[in-house]
Amino acid sequence: MERYICTNCGFVYDPIEGDPERGIPPGTPFEDLPEEWVCPVCYVTQDRFDPL
Ligand SMILES: [Zn+2]
Repeated sequence: MERYICTNCGFVYDPIEGDPERGIPPGTPFEDLPEEWVCPVCYVTQDRFDPL
């Protein structure tokens, strides 16, 4: 599973950690995030993320 970085603010999505505060359990690949998931820091959409 790849980590993805927000190209706007530098936040890194780590699939090992997921995003439990927003209902994303640990072990969720970036590709499996729900469409409504946005960067938790700057709120851009997933198309602004690049693989690390
Ligand atoms: Zn961001």
